[in-house]
Amino acid sequence: MGETGEKKPVLVDRYNRQVDYARISVTSRCNLRCVYCMREGHRRPDVPVEELHYREICRIVEVLGGSGVRKVRFTGGEPLLRDDIVDLVRYAKSVDGIETVVLTTNGVLLDRFLDMLVEAGLDGINFSLDTFDADRYAAITRRNLLPGVLANLESLLRYADVLKVKINVLLLRGINSSELADFGELARKQPVTVRLMELMPFDDHQIWRTGKFMGADKIFEKLGNIYPVLKSMQGRATEHFSFSLPGYRGNVAIIPAFTRNFCSQCNRLRITSSGRIMSCLYSRNGIDLLKALRERTDTGQLRLLFQQAIDMKPKDGREAGEAVPRTSMSEIGG
Ligand code: SAM
Ligand code: SF4
Repeated sequence: MGETGEKKPVLVDRYNRQVDYARISVTSRCNLRCVYCMREGHRRPDVPVEELHYREICRIVEVLGGSGVRKVRFTGGEPLLRDDIVDLVRYAKSVDGIETVVLTTNGVLLDRFLDMLVEAGLDGINFSLDTFDADRYAAITRRNLLPGVLANLESLLRYADVLKVKINVLLLRGINSSELADFGELARKQPVTVRLMELMPFDDHQIWRTGKFMGADKIFEKLGNIYPVLKSMQGRATEHFSFSLPGYRGNVAIIPAFTRNFCSQCNRLRITSSGRIMSCLYSRNGIDLLKALRERTDTGQLRLLFQQAIDMKPKDGREAGEAVPRTSMSEIGG
């Protein structure tokens, strides 16, 4: 109940999971071409793509804030390719009900936006970085941009007292798995969470079929070999196993995105860059929000669309489907 006695709105699914976190993919465009995410020719730059407009994203956040969502993540594609990203963050922070606004980025353009994002009230950044090695970076992302990205990471770390910083590391067997200790070193020196993530089969099946998948149990085993003193942390984790290390400023987490151990605690929904509400990363369909927005549907009806999507939320990502037709993470945003 609020102070005035009125009941706060909540989105609850059939399995009694409360959904209070939304990930919004603000574009499917990207300035990298990570081999596990996009083909080189993923989008021709001269072909316009349908994506949510600024006002539409603002309206989505308003409706979400009024429905019980408290945290919003802007992702993509690369969210910093949108010139209005700072305004989106500022607006989202002003919406009633929204407490936390974060974004996920590959960091390539962060120098352009960092100060403005902090000033706009951003609460945290997930910075995706799979390697510290320039050749390996070029092989993974198909772009030779590591020096600038590392410089941007350094700038970001200067804000680690005001921004929650997490480093997304997608572990690929035989490609970057040898760098676990280097990422551990980052967590020793800096107050960041290093998130070691499992590969998911959303890549046009290019990498997925080449035996590069490294499961959470294997990551845990490798990590345990490097750090015998790894201590499991209890917390409000909804998607990962977390560990602390004595004397380390940061910590390390393993994200079993493919193994899907945490579906029973899932608290999120996703909006694709083309305006569909997806209640699970592994769902095939979704609800067309874009059409409703463009038909000037009223707030009550939009809320119903969100509840309808939540009602479709599968028990877990396995029930949602194994043979996922999704070819790239860029539209749904991870
Ligand atoms: N472009 C931004 C970035 O890379 O941080 C945001 C979007 S990206 C889709 C979000 C996250 O999804 C990244 O950390 C990336 O590593 C992850 N990702 C992309 N494809 C994936 C896949 N096939 N399996 C697991 N994670 C994936
Ligand atoms: Fe772009 Fe992020 Fe996909 Fe890499 S993972 S291609 S940076 S959207």
